[in-house]
Amino acid sequence: MIKNFMEDVVDHVLPSMLKAFPEVCTCKQCIEDIKAITLNNLKPHYISTEKGSIYSRLQEMEVQFETDVMKAIIDAIAIVSKNPRHN
Ligand SMILES: [Zn+2]
Repeated sequence: MIKNFMEDVVDHVLPSMLKAFPEVCTCKQCIEDIKAITLNNLKPHYISTEKGSIYSRLQEMEVQFETDVMKAIIDAIAIVSKNPRHN
């Protein structure tokens, strides 16, 4: 199975970023918008998840991508905060 590893990194980093920006809305719509904008602004990084012991390598990769992901999340939070699509 092929998956975009960046989705995992975003899921992992997003909760702590949201804590750092307590004023940002965390309704389902806004969170999904933040995730979508973040992933659109990041280069996808596809991995094959069939191989066994890739977990430790994934953690290394996560550290490698974390700064880029954090920057992309900050941009996405700014965009969604300015134009929230929730009702
Ligand atoms: Zn919202």
